[in-house]
Amino acid sequence: MELDHLLDKLRMEHLEAQIDAVCEQASQKQLDYKAFLAQALETEWQGRYQKGIEARLRLARFPWLKTLDQFDFDFQPSLDRRQVRELAGMSFVERAHNVILLGPPGVGKTHLAIALGVKAVEAGYSVLFLTLESLMTRLVKAFNENRLERSLQQLVYPKVLIIDEIGYLPLSNLEASLFFRLVTRRYERASLIVTSNKSFLDWGEIFNDPVVATAVLDRLLHYSTTLNIKGESYRLKEKRRAGLLGKVAIPQAEEQEVPAGF
Ligand code: ADP
Ligand code: MG
Repeated sequence: MELDHLLDKLRMEHLEAQIDAVCEQASQKQLDYKAFLAQALETEWQGRYQKGIEARLRLARFPWLKTLDQFDFDFQPSLDRRQVRELAGMSFVERAHNVILLGPPGVGKTHLAIALGVKAVEAGYSVLFLTLESLMTRLVKAFNENRLERSLQQLVYPKVLIIDEIGYLPLSNLEASLFFRLVTRRYERASLIVTSNKSFLDWGEIFNDPVVATAVLDRLLHYSTTLNIKGESYRLKEKRRAGLLGKVAIPQAEEQEVPAGF
């Protein structure tokens, strides 16, 4: 059989696209048969790996992309960078443990959630990013259309589910019970990364019911790491640097929701 026909049959599209370059390099470097074969297969494997990352990044639906390298830890001294590095090692995903990021607006909760999500994508895991609001819209719609079971199953599938912005909107009783069902489904099976501007003490209010809030927290926190960021808003720092705020006081609306009770 012809080589390009074989590559086509074997679906080695990346090697097929680069075969001339791979062969030329091999002859330049005078590679032996084994080294050449390894080089050729690695070309195919690299191509597939990259394609996998791109596909999983698309499926993750991140609102924007940020990495851990882009996070300025010096700006946020309350955050233990070793703990973040440990999480970036992804053993929490292997063990289906959860990560909870708490802190006032602008301190980098979403940035860190996305950055850990990107790490998970690179490590080969499926990831999905949702705000609490979009999650709730999705679950309530599924409930009303009598297909909650399927919707819950789809939400158990990603190895990492990021739920951003818990606490900005209070949940109705139906929403709280749907959220509880989701957390119960994923418990010990797959990881959640959640962010909230409210301390755990205030979760009773978010869930409109202290009993449901306790049940949710019980499962969420059983196997989990909580990062409690207590610093200043990075957004305000940037505005201040741009001279937009000068020395005037920080607007209260941005900072008033500092979690209490830690
Ligand atoms: P939060 O979700 O806590 O409200 P974000 O993660 O949305 O905050 O952060 C607000 C903006 O500031 C984002 O653009 C984010 O990338 C940036 N940011 C926040 N903290 C840092 C940091 N320590 N280093 C670099 N960028 C940061
Ligand atoms: Mg955020």
